[in-house]
Parts: sequence; structure tokens; C-alpha cells
Amino acid sequence: MKLYSLKMRASAASKHVSGSERIVEAAEVPRSTADLAERGMSHPRGPVDFLNVKIERLQEADILHLDALPVSTVKTKDSREGREAMGAFLRGLEIASPDKVLRVLDAARGMRGAVLLDADTLERLEPDHTRGVRATCMDRERETEEPPCKSKNHYAEALVLATKVAHAPHIIGELCISDDPDYVTGYVSSAAAGYRRITCVKEMGSEDGGRVFLYRGDRAGVRETIDYLERQPVIVSGLKPLNAEAPRPDKWKFLSESLDGLRSQGLYRTLRRMDSAQSAEVLCDGRKRIMLASNHYLDFSSDERVRKAAAFAAEAFGTGSGGSRLTTGNGAWHERLEKALAEFKACESALLFSTGYEANLGTIAALMDKDCVIFSDELNHASIIDGCRLSRARIVVYRHNDMEALAKTLRRTPFERGLIVSDAVFSMDGDILDLPTFVQLSEKHGLLSMVDEAHSTGVIGKNGYGIVEHFNGQARPDVLMGTLSKSLGVEGGFICGRELLIDYLRNKARPFIFSTSMTPATAASSMKALELLRTEPERVLALRDNVRFFCERLTDAGLPAHSETAIVPIAVGDEKRALRVAEELWKRGIVLSAIRYPTVRRGEARLRAALMSSHTKEQLAYAAKTIAAVLKAL
Ligand code: PMP
Repeated sequence: MKLYSLKMRASAASKHVSGSERIVEAAEVPRSTADLAERGMSHPRGPVDFLNVKIERLQEADILHLDALPVSTVKTKDSREGREAMGAFLRGLEIASPDKVLRVLDAARGMRGAVLLDADTLERLEPDHTRGVRATCMDRERETEEPPCKSKNHYAEALVLATKVAHAPHIIGELCISDDPDYVTGYVSSAAAGYRRITCVKEMGSEDGGRVFLYRGDRAGVRETIDYLERQPVIVSGLKPLNAEAPRPDKWKFLSESLDGLRSQGLYRTLRRMDSAQSAEVLCDGRKRIMLASNHYLDFSSDERVRKAAAFAAEAFGTGSGGSRLTTGNGAWHERLEKALAEFKACESALLFSTGYEANLGTIAALMDKDCVIFSDELNHASIIDGCRLSRARIVVYRHNDMEALAKTLRRTPFERGLIVSDAVFSMDGDILDLPTFVQLSEKHGLLSMVDEAHSTGVIGKNGYGIVEHFNGQARPDVLMGTLSKSLGVEGGFICGRELLIDYLRNKARPFIFSTSMTPATAASSMKALELLRTEPERVLALRDNVRFFCERLTDAGLPAHSETAIVPIAVGDEKRALRVAEELWKRGIVLSAIRYPTVRRGEARLRAALMSSHTKEQLAYAAKTIAAVLKAL
């Protein structure tokens, strides 16, 4: 094979305009000569006065074949960051004064060749300081069918040059900034670091460019280096297109990294499978265990009459509702349940959602917008927090159930329209909102008030009707949210309030509009549970008695406890310890949740015992004793 080196240089008024080179087979010489000439003649810098294409025969045996340096990219947003990236590269080469090297690079502006710089003494080693040293006589391996490329491919040409230079004797690295005013990407390269593109190294429009080859070694080697750079023919293979420059990043990596982070902090969550209905005792992992973690405080989920209601509705009306309430998903069960809920909460109207989470999310996001302010208790449930965020309103968080802090915050915060929102019974601590003051403050400041009754319905109030009954009807919030998934033992959420509010939500709450409505079985079984709650208040009394008994046993065992609701928190603190304690209790036949960040603050992990009306005193006495013993031991 006969190979030729082609070198084109073009200048105007004795100033360099463009240059390019190739190594091609004999048959390609005419076409490549024409391409290079065309490229020189049509350079955007304007017409040229002088154009030279030099064609030289090469000996094939002399050609050095090199693999392209591996490519990486450092993204920099401006020239300052670009210079920092170059400085980091120089430090990696153990250069004592990176700043001084960068100054040499600045001074190389306008030079045709490169500065050959002693990396340690910073002495310039090229014989002609105006001309510099040139790395020439190189090309990339070309595909036979490759179409001619008349325009400049900065990346490929620079990578070929950098690969040749990186293999030069005594050269430890290279720095380059293009003098093309439209090309701000520069690079640093070395055999060890590869070809590192730096996306911005100078200001757009600047003609400042320069190249520095860093030399380390004896002066006696300089001649050899220059000979190699200027005369050694090199063909570089294995150039990858720019977008395939680095091994593709693993797009799933952030997931495994995030999960590893959770594991290391004791925050990783796993699922536990229950193999029986959720009741005071459950079957899981092949063993019966005392259930102290369920929200089914009145044990309706396992009640035969509630189950039968679900079965009957599924038999009669099918398993699904086929659409949202506004399309095909509105049935008699939904309407009846809404009516019963409104009556139960003594409100004009009610609206069902498929979950309590959606009820909070959809309602808050529908009522508030970016011009509003929402005052939210710091321990509110995640569904409230998410609703607030979705609304884009300004969120002002106040100290937990601290009405004085809330009053102060209200006085200090300017707003035109807004909402105060709180759990009625706080889901993790089981304490009760000071509803009368809460409502009073909302009235005083002209704010809507909203209360989440997830953990108060069926639990507090003389008959378990919730927070309004608990405060003897003294106060009533504007928006009353509740769930069917806790005491009532089914699933779903609801909002109760005046008809105007419900009418608005029917038209505006997106989870109501765009999500399939609850199944007939869900609505019918919820209806039955609600009926039983009203006709069998003894369940509520049994629950209350169990809570009193359990707290007394804990206190006897050295863990002072008190709760007016079904939730009894037991402080632990450290997340990992809380997990270990829950794990040990599991081994001893007790299912109890370790509540950790982000559900509660970091370092405030706790055990959350949730009681049922159907727990026996024996179960509770055993649980209290065992919890105290395990906490002492771990
Ligand atoms: N609010 C509170 C206070 C809750 O504890 C929960 C459930 N953990 C919800 C809302 C969400 O209700 P659901 O589980 O029915 O979606």
C-alpha cells in the first residue's frame, strides 16, 4: 500500500488562517487534496492569499499505529471553572506551580506551534520561541467508505493530535485552547489521564488559543521529542463518536446508591407479609403474633358482618366501578356512603376519595394556590404535606400543636387567603389537636381550617365520632377529612363540610376527577362498619379501656406511658436501635412498628403501639412486659 501525507496550510497577509492534514492511500490523494484545498479556501475567517498543500510519500513500515486516548468530559460553565479543571490536571502531574504553567499557556496566544515547557523548571525548550514545536504527520484510521469531510471536526483532529503527543518521548502532558473564536472547548491530555475535554476554557468570540507540551527529563532528550512530534507518522485508531466517548453511565446507579444510603442509616424499608385477616392476632411468617401495629383500631376488617357486606356488593355489583365518579363510576353505594358520612360527622355534605392520601392531596391542592399561605403543624401527616406542596402555596410550618406559636406566626405573616391544617390525632404520637383554639384562630384571621380525622374517627369523642365530639361540639373546622382505612377497617378517604365546599371539590379535586372510584365492595363494607360503629359504641369503650390498661402495664414495667387515643408512642431515639428492638419483639411474637425518619424527625425514632378494641388483657400485659424487657436489654 502506498501512503501519502497531505498537509494544507492557508494564510492571509502572512497570518495563519487554517491548516489540516491527512494520511491517505495513493488513490485518495487527488480527492483529499481537493477537499483540503476547498477547506482552506472556504474558511470563515475570510479569503486567503496563500494556500499550500504539501504531499509526501511515507514508508508504511515507519508508521506508528496508536489507539486513541480514552476520552472524558469535564463540564465547566465558564472560563474560570475551565482554568480550575486545567489546574487540577496539572496538580495530578505533580507540577509545583500550575498557575505559572497556565500563564505560559496564556502567553502562547497566536503562536502557530506549541510551547515545549520543562514541567519542573518551566524553561521553554523549543528552539524557535515564535514558531514553537508542531505535532504533525498524523491522521486517524479512515473507513474505506467514509464520505469526505470538508468541515473541521475539532474533536477528532484534536484527539488524533493529543494521542500522538501523549506518546512522545519525555512528554508527560498537554494543554490546549483552540484559537477558533467560536470554539470554547479545550482539553488536557496525557497517557495516564487520557483525553479530558473541558467544555469551556475561554470566552466565546475570543481568539486566544495556545498549546503547551509538558516535558520532563534530561535536556539530551529534547531533540528526540521534537523529531517524533514533527516527523513520526502516526495513525490513530479506535476514535469513538463524541457521544460515545465514555462508557455509558449506569442509569440505574442512583437507585442502588440511594438504597445503600438508606441501609447504612437504618432507614431501609422492607415488606412483611400478613397471612390472615388483620385482627388483634395475625398469622405471619408461619406463626401467630400479637398485632400492635394495625390502624384497624375497632377490628372491623375481620368482622363477619363487614366482610359479608363486601362479599354481597361484589356479588351484586361486580368488582370494579369502571371509571371515576364523574364518568361511569358513581353507584348507589357511593351516594349512600357519602350521605351516611355527612350525617355521622354532622355536616351538610361529604365526598369520597379512593384513599385518605388522595383526599388530603386533592382537597388542599384544589383549595389553595400559589397566592395563598398554608399554616401547617410540623407533625402533620405526609399526605397533608404533599397536598400543601402540590398547591404551590407558601407553607408556614408551626411548632407541633402549639397554639401560642401558631397565633404568633399568624400575627407575623401577611396573607390574603389561606388555610390552617392539622391532624386531629397525630398519627405518630397519638396526641390530640387543641381544636377550639385552632378554629378560633382560623376565624379570627379569616382562614379556612382543615382537620384530618384519620386517627380520631372511631377513637375519640364519647361515642367515637371524632374530634368535634371530643370537644363537645364547641368547635367545628371548615373542612373535615377522614379515612375509611383506620377504625372503619376498609380503605378510602372522605371530606365532609358544607355543600358549597363539596360541590367545589367535585369539580376541582383532581384525584376525585381523574381516579377510578372505590369499588362497590369497599363502599358497602365501609357503610356496614360505619353502621356498626354507631350501633355498637361498646367497641370504642373497649378500645379506651385497653389503652388505659396497656399504659398502666408499661408504666408498671418502668416505661411511663399515657394516651387518650389508640396510639401509644414509646420513645427510642436512634433509628438502628428502634429497628433492632422491633426485630426482637417480632421474634417474641409481637408485631410493632419502628417509626423512623422521614415519618418522624431524625434521631427521634420510636415504637408506635396501636391498640385494638379486641386485644385481650393477657395479650396487652405480655406485650407491655416484653417491650420493657427488650428495651432494657438492647
Ligand atoms: N392522614 C393521616 C393522619 C394518616 O395517618 C393516613 C394514613 N397513614 C392518611 C391520612 C392517609 O390515609 P390512607 O391510608 O387512607 O390513604
